[in-house]
Amino acid sequence: MFSYRHAFHAGSHADILKHLITIQLLRYLQEKPGALSIVDTHAGAGLYNLQDGFAAISQESAGGIVRLQDHLASASASVPESISDYLTCVAIENATESTALYPGSPFIFARLLRPQDRLRLFELHPNEIDILRSNINQLNRAKQVDVYSADGFSRLKGLLPPPSRRGLVLIDPSYEDKQDYRNLESCLEEALTRFATGCYAIWYPVIARRESIALADRLGTIAKAHQRSWLRAELRVENAPGERRLQASGMFIVNPPWTLHNHLKDALPILKKALGLDSGASYTLQSGEA
Ligand code: SAM
Repeated sequence: MFSYRHAFHAGSHADILKHLITIQLLRYLQEKPGALSIVDTHAGAGLYNLQDGFAAISQESAGGIVRLQDHLASASASVPESISDYLTCVAIENATESTALYPGSPFIFARLLRPQDRLRLFELHPNEIDILRSNINQLNRAKQVDVYSADGFSRLKGLLPPPSRRGLVLIDPSYEDKQDYRNLESCLEEALTRFATGCYAIWYPVIARRESIALADRLGTIAKAHQRSWLRAELRVENAPGERRLQASGMFIVNPPWTLHNHLKDALPILKKALGLDSGASYTLQSGEA
């Protein structure tokens, strides 16, 4: 169960899609002054050195953040707001123009916290939790962050609804365990029962596995049963059947801000162009009403 280390995938195309959308969700929710409760059920280590350790071995960032930056540097077209916002969040961790450090979702959230906001992080891996704690402790806003060595799926419900009734939840399992698919569904079901108006962002891999193929539709069914609107965005960077590397991923958002669709309509074609590796590169963007 503990073979997954997110450092292998830090700064990959999947991280770009996930983190770009996460930032836009946070930006929208922070337009109102009320306190925001943010929960990251699967936090990872928080910050990754792309030039060392697992990230340097996998080199996934070469096809992700590095490729995106190179593409934008050579393109003359203007950069959509959501992409420049994302790149600014990455640049915060780096003193020079090259990206040596890549922020995971805990760092992205923590850097953007306002004094009234609170961030709760869950991580189960015995090594990752120590790295996460030490990374978070370096931040100015560390006092607003709670780090739990616990199962994010089962602990989420205990935090809902937040006292301010304003909340953003990122659910980003590794899916190395087949149970993750089932746990995710019951976690979302319970969360919506307790806190129907929360904003929920779920990352998923698009792979040739029965559970994965069915997942987004099943999440749509749950959202519909709770009379919630949803948005689904997927980015495929190549179509190479038989290759084991991750070629596509998606984000499913329950109660998306009305602004998100337009942001992604601008950003996804650029991401496809920048990160696409063959003619199979594509994206999808779908929404469902409550
Ligand atoms: N959200 C992170 C980011 O975007 O930077 C990446 C998280 S990574 C995909 C998934 C993490 O969840 C791994 O570090 C794994 O150890 C951890 N994990 C696995 N099962 C968990 C569970 N039930 N509760 C909390 N963390 C879990």
